[in-house]
This record gives sequence, C-alpha cells and structure tokens, in this order.
Amino acid sequence: MKKLNRRKALKDIAIASATLLVSPSCMADDHKKDNSKKVTVNSNGDKIGEGDYKMVIKNGTLYTEGKLQKDWFLGITDDGKLKVSQTALQGKQEIDATGKIVSPGFIDILADNAGNPQQTYTIFEKYKVSDGLTTVLQMHGGAEYPQKFHEYFDKLPHRVNYGVSVFVMRLRLAYASLAKRYELAERGLKEGAVAMAHSPEYQPDTNYTELKEYAKIAQRYNRPYFLHLRYSSEDKELEGVKEAIRLTEETGVQIHIDHINSTGGTFNMAKSLELIQNANAKGSKITCCVYPYSYWATYLISERFGGDWRKRYGITYEDLEIVGTGERVTAQTYPIYRKRGGLLVAVPPGTMPFEKTINLALQTDFCMFGSDGGIEKEPRANSHPRGAGFAATAIRHCLNIGLTLEQALERIVTRPAKLIQPAMKDRGDLKNGNWADVTIFDPKTINGKATVANPNQFSEGIDCVIVNGEIAFQNGKLLKQAGKPIRY
Ligand SMILES: [Zn+2]
Repeated sequence: MKKLNRRKALKDIAIASATLLVSPSCMADDHKKDNSKKVTVNSNGDKIGEGDYKMVIKNGTLYTEGKLQKDWFLGITDDGKLKVSQTALQGKQEIDATGKIVSPGFIDILADNAGNPQQTYTIFEKYKVSDGLTTVLQMHGGAEYPQKFHEYFDKLPHRVNYGVSVFVMRLRLAYASLAKRYELAERGLKEGAVAMAHSPEYQPDTNYTELKEYAKIAQRYNRPYFLHLRYSSEDKELEGVKEAIRLTEETGVQIHIDHINSTGGTFNMAKSLELIQNANAKGSKITCCVYPYSYWATYLISERFGGDWRKRYGITYEDLEIVGTGERVTAQTYPIYRKRGGLLVAVPPGTMPFEKTINLALQTDFCMFGSDGGIEKEPRANSHPRGAGFAATAIRHCLNIGLTLEQALERIVTRPAKLIQPAMKDRGDLKNGNWADVTIFDPKTINGKATVANPNQFSEGIDCVIVNGEIAFQNGKLLKQAGKPIRY
C-alpha cells in the first residue's frame, strides 16, 4: 500500500511538473476551447467571443516604435486604449490581420475643410477615414476663433480626431488693427489651437515685422507656425524659404513649410532643401510637407491663370481638366469658364515632376506628408483627388521610389505626431496606454483610387480603421463615429 501510494504520489508530482512546464500553452489552448464554445462570427468574418480585451488584432505586422514587428498582438481595452504584446491576447472580438500591416492611424496635418465646414464636414471626414486617416488637422487655415469652432463641432459626432490652427488670414481680413490681430491670434492659442497658420503669398501686404509677431506668439505658447510661403515662382521661391529660416532664427519658433512641392521648392527643390538642412544643422527647427501628386489644381479664375500662363507652364487649354467632371477646357470654353468663379481645374500629371520635387524632399529627415485637401461635395466633388486618396497614394508612392514601409509610415504617422506635441502625445504610435487609433492595410494593394475625373473614390487596400478603440471603417463600410477633438 505504502509503496503504491508513494509511487502514485511520485506519478502525481511528475504529472503536475509536466503540466507546470507546458502550462502557458495548455492554458492558452484551454482558454481557446472555452472561448470557442461561445465564439460567433460577425458579418465581417471577425470572431466575437469572450476575452480579456474588447478587441484583439492578431497575426499582423505591427508598426511600433519605428519598427515593423511580425506576428505581434494588439489589444484594445474597454476604454479605447492599446496593449501591445508579443504573446497571444484574448479578445471578445478578434480581427485576423494575416498578411496585413497594423499601423498607428495615419495623420493628416494639412487637411483642408475651411470653406464651409458646417456644411461639408461629414463628407470631408468620410473620405479621410476611408483613406486610413484617424487624425485630421486643419493647419493650413483652421479657424479664426478656435473656441467657437470647438463649441460647435465638439457636440457633433466625428469619424476622425480633428483640430485646427489659428487662421491668421481671416483675422487679418476682419481687423485692420495690428494690435487686435495679435491679441486674437494669441487668444486662439490660449483656446487650444494646435498651431499658428498664415499664408503670406495670399496676403502679400503682410510685412516681415507682422509675420514675425505671429512667430513670437507661437513660440511663447510652444506651438508650431505653419506657413504657406510668400512666393511660388521660379525666380523668387527661395526668397520665401529664406524668410521662413529667418523667422525661426530670430524667434526660435518651430516653422512648418506647407506643401513645399508647390510653394518653395517647385523649381529649385534641391537648393530649397539644402537651405533648410543647413539651418537645422545650426539649431533651427524647420519641417515641411508634400502631397504625393505630380500636378496641382486651382481655380480657373485665380491669378495663376493670368497673363501668358500657357507659355509659363508649357501647356495649353486642352491640358486643363475640370475636376470632378472629366471635361477638358477648350479655346472656346476658356473665356467663359475663366469668368465663372469657383471652378477648379487640374494641370496634367508630371507638371511637378516627382524626381525633381517630392522624391528629393522625402529623402530628408524633416519632410512628411500633408494632403492640403479635402472632399467637400458628393457625388463628384470639384476638389483635388488628394482629398480622398492622399494617404494611400503617399504610401504607395514611397514604396514605388524604393523607400521602406517603415520610412513611409514614419512620414505619415511618426513625424506628424512628433510635430504636434503635446496635443498628440498619446497618439501616433502603437504603445501601451495610447489611444487605439489603428489602421490595418494591405501593403500589396494599398493605393489611392481618387482621380481628377472622379475624386469621390475610397482608397484601395485600407481594410480597417479604428478610432479611439471603435471600428470607424471596415471592408468599405463606414461604421462608428468616435473621433475626439485634438486641442493643446
Ligand atoms: Zn497653400
């Protein structure tokens, strides 16, 4: 009896040890078995069952802390925060991201919906979230009264996180008094605007002293100063870059140059980048952005079509396409359309050759992406296709020119988030405790689909977009609206 008992006891210990040794996987298996009884599959094919997290994204390649990590797990808590793990996590809902990239949600720092935001914001946000963007900041224009902007918009549902800069151009239009302009620009920052923004090319009566005063206010409140530079012509564009450098050298402000491919570096990009590089090496803080298209679009009524524009751009009437229609301008229709206000036309692809413009800028450590666009109408908007296809096109373009996926994501997530600190401090990276803004995409197929003829098209390869822990877009369908305001 005794012997037998001892033998039995030894046997029990052996079994117990063996169980202990293999317990993690056994337990995980048991857990899975338990779950499998209660798991159902929803219409998207995602498993819904019991687990520690509200949602778990598994089998994907995570872009976290600047690196791609294969087969890591991403958990999302009930309050919409992230948990990054190298080992399996259990979720009530599970998304299988096999073969996909799981990225922090893309960020657009130069979104544009300033024309009539109350009327257009739902359409605008729809084409942003479907392009993989989770945070959409209007820093080219923004709002002249940020407090009023937020009082109005914070009550409404949003598909993406949103924020604005102080719209200096509008303050200048409203007030002739310099003191009043400065007072309201400062108030805008106190009200939480994430940047100061001005466009001296559009208001050339802004002299350097006034431009510098806004820089000093921005510096005092630790906010970046977004500039559409003073010049875009071949002979003067570098003067605009030098003015921006002087502003940061004299005030210490962080300068961001809007769309340097169309203003500041269209003709002399290499020189323009060299000036910035040298200034940064001496301690200046200058960043810039580009949009990934080789053509611009602007209103036919604008000054860009004044004088001998055909000679200036080396194009003719039929090269101009009316955005959203597919219609070409002709010598007959030109004088009629030119008088009609608000008609956006696009110049042909290649007018700003990639290899001489954005491809150079993307090689630097201070350039990132910004759309400078937004879709404002349906079914076919008279808006540049970048309003719908910017982010997916940007990633495809990076891969096409030999940048790595990490480099592409750095330029559309990491650098933009870093620029907007501390307002974006818990976004822009897949890190424990950060907000769950996540974009799952297929690196093989991601690309913009929007065209000049029809800008209103969702991008390809964007599988799922999660905003603050809620699925906002999946398999072509718009879902929950969980966007939050981004304020300083
Ligand atoms: Zn601009």
